Amino acid sequence: MERELKDRIEILQGDITKMEVDAIVNAANSSLLGGGGVDGAIHRAAGPELLAETRKIGGCPTGEARVTKGYRLPAKWVIHTVGPIWSGGNRNEDDLLASCYRNSFKAAIEIGAVTVAFPSISTGAYRFPLERAVNIALRETRSFLPTNQSIKKVIFVCFGTEVHKRYQRLFKEVFT
Ligand code: ADP
Repeated sequence: MERELKDRIEILQGDITKMEVDAIVNAANSSLLGGGGVDGAIHRAAGPELLAETRKIGGCPTGEARVTKGYRLPAKWVIHTVGPIWSGGNRNEDDLLASCYRNSFKAAIEIGAVTVAFPSISTGAYRFPLERAVNIALRETRSFLPTNQSIKKVIFVCFGTEVHKRYQRLFKEVFT
C-alpha cells in the first residue's frame, strides 16, 4: 500500500508551465487576473485567452479553487487556487493552505485529470514558511491519495534547488 502511494508522487525541479500533464495548479491571487511568480508565468505561457476566461469567473476566495482551460500550455487544464498570505500563523493560514490542496484535488477529479502538477503554493510572494508549507502539501496528498484511484500521478514541481531539496527531505519523513 505504502509503496503504491509513493509511486503516485514525483518531485521534480523545473518550470510548471512546461509540464505535459492533464492539469497544473496555479498559485493565483483572489482576483484571478494574474500576478507575479508562477501565476505570471502561467498567464504568459497560456496566452491572453486564459485571462479572458478568468475575468469571466470573477475571482476566487482564499482556500478555494477554480478551473480553466490551459490554452497554449501543454497542460489541458489549469486549476487556480488561492493560497493564504502568511501573517504570523494565527489567521488560519495552515487550514487555508490545506484547503487549497484538498479543493485542487477535488477539482482535478471533477475534470477527470489523471496527472496533476503543483507548485509550492503560498511560499513565494505570500511568504508562508517553506518547511511548514511543504509539510502541509505532502500530508494533504498523503491523506488524499488512498481515497481516490483516478489520479495516478501527483507531481510537485519545485522552482529552484532549495525548494526541491526541502520536498525531497520531507517526502522521506511523510511517506516512511
Ligand atoms: P504565492 O503568491 O502563492 O506565494 P509565488 O508564485 O510567489 O506564489 O510562489 C509560489 C512558488 O512558485 C514559489 O516556490 C516560486 O518559486 C514558485 N514558482 C515561480 N515560478 C514558477 C514556475 N514557473 N514553475 C514552478 N514554480 C514556480
